[in-house]
Amino acid sequence: MAEKMRAQVLTEVKHFELKELPIPEINDDEVLVKVKYCGICGSDWGSFNGKYADEVECIPLTTGHEVYGTIAEVGKNAQDIAVGDRVTYDICTPCGTCYHCRIGEPLLCTNFKQIGIHTDGGFAEYVKVPWKNIYKVPDEVSDEKAAFVEPLTACLNASHKMDCTIGRSVVVIGAGLGIMHAQLAKLRGAAPVIMVDMNADRLAMAKEVVADYVIDASKCDAVEEVMKLTNGVGADFVLEAVGRSSTYEQAFQMVRKGGKVEAFGICAEDDFASLPPVEFVTSEKKISGSCAGIGYDWGDALTLMKYDRVDPTPLISMIVPLEDLEDALYEIRKNPKLVKVLVSPEATERTILYK
Ligand SMILES: [Zn+2]
Ligand SMILES: [Zn+2]
Repeated sequence: MAEKMRAQVLTEVKHFELKELPIPEINDDEVLVKVKYCGICGSDWGSFNGKYADEVECIPLTTGHEVYGTIAEVGKNAQDIAVGDRVTYDICTPCGTCYHCRIGEPLLCTNFKQIGIHTDGGFAEYVKVPWKNIYKVPDEVSDEKAAFVEPLTACLNASHKMDCTIGRSVVVIGAGLGIMHAQLAKLRGAAPVIMVDMNADRLAMAKEVVADYVIDASKCDAVEEVMKLTNGVGADFVLEAVGRSSTYEQAFQMVRKGGKVEAFGICAEDDFASLPPVEFVTSEKKISGSCAGIGYDWGDALTLMKYDRVDPTPLISMIVPLEDLEDALYEIRKNPKLVKVLVSPEATERTILYK
Protein backbone atom coordinates (compact mmCIF):
# COMPACT_ATOMS: atom_id res chain seq x y z
CA MET A 1 0.00 0.00 0.00
CA ALA A 2 1.21 3.51 -0.81
CA GLU A 3 2.45 5.38 2.22
CA LYS A 4 0.85 8.68 1.37
CA MET A 5 -2.64 9.83 0.51
CA ARG A 6 -4.29 13.00 -0.75
CA ALA A 7 -6.48 14.77 1.78
CA GLN A 8 -8.31 18.08 1.89
CA VAL A 9 -7.32 19.79 5.11
CA LEU A 10 -9.20 22.74 6.53
CA THR A 11 -6.06 24.57 7.64
CA GLU A 12 -7.90 27.71 8.72
CA VAL A 13 -11.42 29.07 8.44
CA LYS A 14 -12.39 29.45 4.74
CA HIS A 15 -9.35 27.59 3.45
CA PHE A 16 -8.98 23.99 2.33
CA GLU A 17 -5.53 22.82 1.31
CA LEU A 18 -5.01 19.65 -0.70
CA LYS A 19 -2.16 17.87 1.08
CA GLU A 20 -0.11 14.72 0.82
CA LEU A 21 -0.43 13.08 4.22
CA PRO A 22 0.56 9.71 5.66
CA ILE A 23 -2.22 7.13 5.36
CA PRO A 24 -3.76 6.87 8.87
CA GLU A 25 -2.40 4.03 10.96
CA ILE A 26 -5.09 1.91 12.55
CA ASN A 27 -5.05 0.27 15.97
CA ASP A 28 -6.45 -3.17 16.79
CA ASP A 29 -9.98 -1.80 17.21
CA GLU A 30 -10.07 0.16 13.97
CA VAL A 31 -10.41 -0.42 10.26
CA LEU A 32 -9.16 1.64 7.34
CA VAL A 33 -11.76 2.70 4.78
CA LYS A 34 -10.79 3.65 1.24
CA VAL A 35 -13.16 6.47 0.37
CA LYS A 36 -15.07 6.30 -2.89
CA TYR A 37 -17.56 9.07 -2.16
CA CYS A 38 -17.99 11.65 0.55
CA GLY A 39 -21.10 13.82 0.30
CA ILE A 40 -20.99 17.54 1.06
CA CYS A 41 -23.33 18.40 3.93
CA GLY A 42 -24.81 21.80 4.75
CA SER A 43 -22.83 21.60 7.97
CA ASP A 44 -19.58 21.38 5.96
CA TRP A 45 -20.32 24.92 4.78
CA GLY A 46 -20.76 25.91 8.43
CA SER A 47 -17.48 24.25 9.47
CA PHE A 48 -15.68 25.84 6.51
CA ASN A 49 -16.90 29.27 7.61
CA GLY A 50 -16.01 28.72 11.25
CA LYS A 51 -19.63 28.85 12.42
CA TYR A 52 -19.32 26.21 15.13
CA ALA A 53 -16.90 27.06 17.95
CA ASP A 54 -16.26 23.44 19.02
CA GLU A 55 -15.28 22.58 15.45
CA VAL A 56 -12.97 25.55 14.94
CA GLU A 57 -10.97 24.14 17.86
CA CYS A 58 -10.34 20.99 15.80
CA ILE A 59 -8.64 22.84 12.91
CA PRO A 60 -6.44 21.71 11.12
CA LEU A 61 -8.89 19.00 10.18
CA THR A 62 -9.99 16.85 7.25
CA THR A 63 -13.78 17.20 7.31
CA GLY A 64 -16.38 15.11 5.48
CA HIS A 65 -18.81 12.72 7.17
CA GLU A 66 -21.08 11.22 4.48
CA VAL A 67 -18.82 8.41 3.41
CA TYR A 68 -19.13 5.32 1.27
CA GLY A 69 -16.04 3.22 0.63
CA THR A 70 -14.39 -0.16 0.84
CA ILE A 71 -12.33 -1.75 3.58
CA ALA A 72 -8.60 -1.41 2.92
CA GLU A 73 -7.19 -2.77 6.20
CA VAL A 74 -8.65 -4.49 9.24
CA GLY A 75 -7.54 -4.20 12.89
CA LYS A 76 -6.95 -7.43 14.88
CA ASN A 77 -10.09 -7.18 16.97
CA ALA A 78 -12.51 -6.46 14.11
CA GLN A 79 -15.10 -9.16 13.52
CA ASP A 80 -16.93 -10.09 10.31
CA ILE A 81 -15.19 -7.39 8.30
CA ALA A 82 -12.85 -8.19 5.41
CA VAL A 83 -10.70 -6.21 3.02
CA GLY A 84 -12.81 -5.19 0.03
CA ASP A 85 -16.14 -5.06 1.88
CA ARG A 86 -18.45 -2.23 0.72
CA VAL A 87 -19.18 -0.14 3.79
CA THR A 88 -20.45 3.01 5.41
CA TYR A 89 -20.09 3.90 9.07
CA ASP A 90 -21.83 5.47 12.03
CA ILE A 91 -19.93 8.75 12.51
CA CYS A 92 -20.87 9.09 16.19
CA THR A 93 -18.40 8.24 18.93
CA PRO A 94 -20.16 9.19 22.18
CA CYS A 95 -18.01 8.91 25.31
CA GLY A 96 -20.26 6.39 27.08
CA THR A 97 -19.65 7.78 30.56
CA CYS A 98 -21.14 11.30 30.73
CA TYR A 99 -24.57 12.05 32.22
CA HIS A 100 -26.37 11.94 28.84
CA CYS A 101 -24.66 8.77 27.66
CA ARG A 102 -25.57 7.03 30.89
CA ILE A 103 -29.24 7.92 30.67
CA GLY A 104 -29.46 6.70 27.07
CA GLU A 105 -29.05 9.99 25.19
CA PRO A 106 -25.75 9.39 23.37
CA LEU A 107 -26.49 12.02 20.70
CA LEU A 108 -26.43 14.65 23.45
CA CYS A 109 -23.10 13.36 24.86
CA THR A 110 -21.20 16.10 26.68
CA ASN A 111 -17.96 14.99 25.01
CA PHE A 112 -19.56 14.25 21.65
CA LYS A 113 -17.20 13.57 18.77
CA GLN A 114 -18.22 12.76 15.22
CA ILE A 115 -15.82 11.38 12.60
CA GLY A 116 -15.34 14.02 9.91
CA ILE A 117 -16.73 16.80 12.10
CA HIS A 118 -14.42 16.73 15.12
CA THR A 119 -11.87 14.14 13.94
CA ASP A 120 -10.41 13.51 10.48
CA GLY A 121 -13.00 12.34 7.97
CA GLY A 122 -13.82 11.54 4.40
CA PHE A 123 -12.52 14.32 2.17
CA ALA A 124 -9.43 12.17 1.74
CA GLU A 125 -8.41 8.91 0.11
CA TYR A 126 -8.56 7.03 3.42
CA VAL A 127 -10.22 7.39 6.79
CA LYS A 128 -9.80 5.27 9.92
CA VAL A 129 -12.89 4.19 11.83
CA PRO A 130 -13.63 2.05 14.92
CA TRP A 131 -14.66 -1.36 13.54
CA LYS A 132 -17.82 -1.39 15.63
CA ASN A 133 -19.09 1.66 13.71
CA ILE A 134 -18.94 -0.13 10.36
CA TYR A 135 -22.12 -1.11 8.47
CA LYS A 136 -21.86 -3.29 5.38
CA VAL A 137 -23.72 -2.06 2.32
CA PRO A 138 -26.12 -4.59 0.73
CA ASP A 139 -25.50 -5.44 -2.96
CA GLU A 140 -28.82 -3.85 -3.91
CA VAL A 141 -27.64 -0.42 -2.74
CA SER A 142 -25.48 1.42 -5.28
CA ASP A 143 -22.25 3.20 -4.32
CA GLU A 144 -23.90 6.58 -4.90
CA LYS A 145 -26.94 5.77 -2.74
CA ALA A 146 -24.65 4.42 -0.03
CA ALA A 147 -23.03 7.86 0.21
CA PHE A 148 -26.48 9.13 1.17
CA VAL A 149 -26.86 6.87 4.19
CA GLU A 150 -25.62 9.43 6.76
CA PRO A 151 -28.06 12.19 5.72
CA LEU A 152 -30.84 9.59 5.67
CA THR A 153 -29.96 8.54 9.23
CA ALA A 154 -30.46 12.13 10.37
CA CYS A 155 -33.85 12.19 8.62
CA LEU A 156 -34.77 8.84 10.18
CA ASN A 157 -33.96 10.12 13.64
CA ALA A 158 -36.21 13.14 12.99
CA SER A 159 -38.93 10.81 11.71
CA HIS A 160 -38.81 8.82 14.96
CA LYS A 161 -38.99 12.00 17.03
CA MET A 162 -41.79 13.57 15.00
CA ASP A 163 -43.63 10.24 15.06
CA CYS A 164 -46.33 11.18 12.55
CA THR A 165 -49.12 8.66 12.31
CA ILE A 166 -51.28 7.20 9.55
CA GLY A 167 -53.72 9.64 7.97
CA ARG A 168 -52.24 12.78 9.57
CA SER A 169 -51.09 15.79 7.55
CA VAL A 170 -47.40 16.68 7.34
CA VAL A 171 -45.81 19.87 6.03
CA VAL A 172 -42.10 19.81 5.22
CA ILE A 173 -40.52 23.26 4.84
CA GLY A 174 -37.47 23.02 2.57
CA ALA A 175 -37.34 20.79 -0.50
CA GLY A 176 -33.69 19.72 -0.35
CA LEU A 177 -33.11 16.99 2.22
CA GLY A 178 -36.78 17.73 3.01
CA ILE A 179 -37.67 15.39 0.15
CA MET A 180 -36.27 12.53 2.25
CA HIS A 181 -38.32 13.68 5.24
CA ALA A 182 -41.42 13.72 3.05
CA GLN A 183 -40.69 10.20 1.76
CA LEU A 184 -40.40 8.95 5.34
CA ALA A 185 -43.63 10.71 6.35
CA LYS A 186 -45.42 9.10 3.41
CA LEU A 187 -44.03 5.70 4.41
CA ARG A 188 -45.66 6.25 7.79
CA GLY A 189 -48.98 6.87 6.07
CA ALA A 190 -49.11 10.67 6.36
CA ALA A 191 -51.73 12.35 4.19
CA PRO A 192 -51.53 14.84 2.71
CA VAL A 193 -47.78 15.49 2.47
CA ILE A 194 -47.23 19.16 1.68
CA MET A 195 -43.87 20.70 0.76
CA VAL A 196 -42.89 24.36 0.96
CA ASP A 197 -39.91 25.98 -0.75
CA MET A 198 -39.05 29.11 -2.71
CA ASN A 199 -37.30 27.37 -5.56
CA ALA A 200 -39.38 26.26 -8.55
CA ASP A 201 -36.97 23.49 -9.63
CA ARG A 202 -36.91 21.90 -6.21
CA LEU A 203 -40.69 22.15 -5.89
CA ALA A 204 -41.11 20.46 -9.27
CA MET A 205 -38.86 17.64 -8.05
CA ALA A 206 -40.80 17.41 -4.79
CA LYS A 207 -44.10 17.12 -6.68
CA GLU A 208 -42.71 14.46 -9.00
CA VAL A 209 -41.08 12.39 -6.26
CA VAL A 210 -43.32 12.58 -3.22
CA ALA A 211 -45.49 15.59 -2.40
CA ASP A 212 -49.29 15.71 -2.67
CA TYR A 213 -49.12 19.51 -2.72
CA VAL A 214 -46.28 21.96 -3.15
CA ILE A 215 -46.34 25.59 -2.04
CA ASP A 216 -44.05 28.21 -3.56
CA ALA A 217 -43.45 30.56 -0.65
CA SER A 218 -41.89 33.15 -2.97
CA LYS A 219 -45.31 33.63 -4.57
CA CYS A 220 -47.77 33.33 -1.68
CA ASP A 221 -48.19 33.20 2.09
CA ALA A 222 -47.26 29.62 2.97
CA VAL A 223 -49.16 29.74 6.28
CA GLU A 224 -52.40 30.77 4.55
CA GLU A 225 -51.98 28.06 1.92
CA VAL A 226 -51.48 25.36 4.55
CA MET A 227 -54.57 26.61 6.39
CA LYS A 228 -56.58 26.32 3.16
CA LEU A 229 -55.30 22.80 2.45
CA THR A 230 -56.19 21.68 5.98
CA ASN A 231 -59.69 23.23 6.13
CA GLY A 232 -58.54 25.99 8.45
CA VAL A 233 -57.24 23.56 11.08
CA GLY A 234 -53.49 23.70 10.43
CA ALA A 235 -51.13 20.79 9.85
CA ASP A 236 -50.83 17.94 12.32
CA PHE A 237 -47.03 17.97 11.91
CA VAL A 238 -44.62 20.52 10.45
CA LEU A 239 -40.97 19.69 9.88
CA GLU A 240 -38.58 22.62 9.39
CA ALA A 241 -35.67 21.63 7.15
CA VAL A 242 -34.36 25.06 6.17
CA GLY A 243 -32.76 26.55 9.28
CA ARG A 244 -34.13 30.11 9.35
CA SER A 245 -35.88 31.99 12.13
CA SER A 246 -38.64 33.09 9.75
CA THR A 247 -39.48 29.56 8.63
CA TYR A 248 -39.50 28.35 12.23
CA GLU A 249 -42.01 31.10 12.99
CA GLN A 250 -44.12 30.00 10.01
CA ALA A 251 -43.92 26.38 11.11
CA PHE A 252 -45.30 27.34 14.51
CA GLN A 253 -48.08 29.36 12.88
CA MET A 254 -49.18 26.62 10.47
CA VAL A 255 -49.18 23.72 12.93
CA ARG A 256 -52.62 22.92 14.36
CA LYS A 257 -53.61 23.12 18.02
CA GLY A 258 -52.04 20.13 19.73
CA GLY A 259 -49.76 19.56 16.72
CA LYS A 260 -46.02 19.21 16.65
CA VAL A 261 -43.20 21.13 15.00
CA GLU A 262 -40.12 19.01 14.36
CA ALA A 263 -36.94 21.11 14.30
CA PHE A 264 -34.34 19.86 11.83
CA GLY A 265 -32.89 22.89 9.96
CA ILE A 266 -29.83 24.32 11.69
CA CYS A 267 -29.91 28.06 12.38
CA ALA A 268 -26.88 30.15 13.29
CA GLU A 269 -26.04 30.04 16.99
CA ASP A 270 -27.13 33.68 17.44
CA ASP A 271 -30.46 33.39 15.57
CA PHE A 272 -33.70 33.79 17.52
CA ALA A 273 -37.32 33.15 16.55
CA SER A 274 -40.46 34.70 18.06
CA LEU A 275 -42.94 32.10 19.22
CA PRO A 276 -45.96 33.14 21.31
CA PRO A 277 -45.60 31.09 24.53
CA VAL A 278 -49.36 31.26 25.12
CA GLU A 279 -49.76 28.75 22.29
CA PHE A 280 -47.71 26.19 24.16
CA VAL A 281 -50.38 26.38 26.85
CA THR A 282 -53.75 27.24 25.34
CA SER A 283 -53.09 25.54 21.98
CA GLU A 284 -50.86 22.79 23.35
CA LYS A 285 -48.47 23.17 20.44
CA LYS A 286 -45.30 21.14 20.77
CA ILE A 287 -41.77 21.39 19.45
CA SER A 288 -39.21 18.63 19.31
CA GLY A 289 -35.74 18.55 17.80
CA SER A 290 -33.41 15.97 16.35
CA CYS A 291 -29.75 16.64 15.72
CA ALA A 292 -28.38 13.60 13.89
CA GLY A 293 -28.63 9.87 13.32
CA ILE A 294 -26.83 7.27 15.40
CA GLY A 295 -26.26 3.52 15.58
CA TYR A 296 -29.33 1.58 14.48
CA ASP A 297 -30.34 4.46 12.19
CA TRP A 298 -27.51 3.27 9.90
CA GLY A 299 -28.89 -0.25 9.71
CA ASP A 300 -32.42 1.05 9.15
CA ALA A 301 -31.31 3.50 6.43
CA LEU A 302 -29.55 0.69 4.54
CA THR A 303 -32.58 -1.58 4.86
CA LEU A 304 -34.95 1.11 3.57
CA MET A 305 -32.67 1.68 0.58
CA LYS A 306 -32.21 -2.04 -0.06
CA TYR A 307 -35.99 -2.48 -0.32
CA ASP A 308 -36.48 0.77 -2.25
CA ARG A 309 -38.68 2.37 0.40
CA VAL A 310 -36.74 5.58 0.03
CA ASP A 311 -34.70 6.67 -2.95
CA PRO A 312 -32.21 9.53 -2.71
CA THR A 313 -31.28 9.33 -6.42
CA PRO A 314 -33.11 12.53 -7.48
CA LEU A 315 -31.15 14.47 -4.85
CA ILE A 316 -27.69 13.37 -5.99
CA SER A 317 -26.75 16.23 -8.31
CA MET A 318 -23.06 16.01 -9.10
CA ILE A 319 -19.85 14.08 -8.48
CA VAL A 320 -16.61 16.07 -8.32
CA PRO A 321 -12.93 15.16 -7.85
CA LEU A 322 -11.34 15.73 -4.44
CA GLU A 323 -9.49 18.74 -5.89
CA ASP A 324 -12.81 20.55 -6.47
CA LEU A 325 -14.07 20.49 -2.88
CA GLU A 326 -13.71 24.18 -2.10
CA ASP A 327 -15.15 25.27 -5.46
CA ALA A 328 -18.08 22.91 -4.96
CA LEU A 329 -18.83 24.37 -1.53
CA TYR A 330 -19.37 27.78 -3.13
CA GLU A 331 -21.22 26.39 -6.14
CA ILE A 332 -23.82 24.69 -3.91
CA ARG A 333 -24.70 28.13 -2.49
CA LYS A 334 -25.07 29.62 -5.97
CA ASN A 335 -26.63 26.89 -8.11
CA PRO A 336 -30.13 25.93 -6.90
CA LYS A 337 -30.00 22.74 -8.97
CA LEU A 338 -27.31 21.33 -6.71
CA VAL A 339 -28.76 19.43 -3.76
CA LYS A 340 -26.22 16.74 -2.86
CA VAL A 341 -22.71 16.87 -4.29
CA LEU A 342 -20.45 13.84 -3.82
CA VAL A 343 -16.70 14.33 -3.62
CA SER A 344 -14.68 11.42 -4.98
CA PRO A 345 -10.94 10.92 -4.48
CA GLU A 346 -11.15 8.41 -7.36
CA ALA A 347 -12.75 10.82 -9.85
CA THR A 348 -10.64 12.80 -12.30
CA GLU A 349 -13.50 14.76 -13.79
CA ARG A 350 -16.96 15.96 -12.88
CA THR A 351 -20.17 14.02 -13.48
CA ILE A 352 -23.30 16.16 -13.70
CA LEU A 353 -26.43 14.23 -12.70
CA TYR A 354 -29.07 16.95 -12.39
CA LYS A 355 -31.50 17.76 -15.19
ZN1 LIG B 1 -24.37 15.59 7.13
ZN1 LIG C 1 -21.04 10.99 26.69
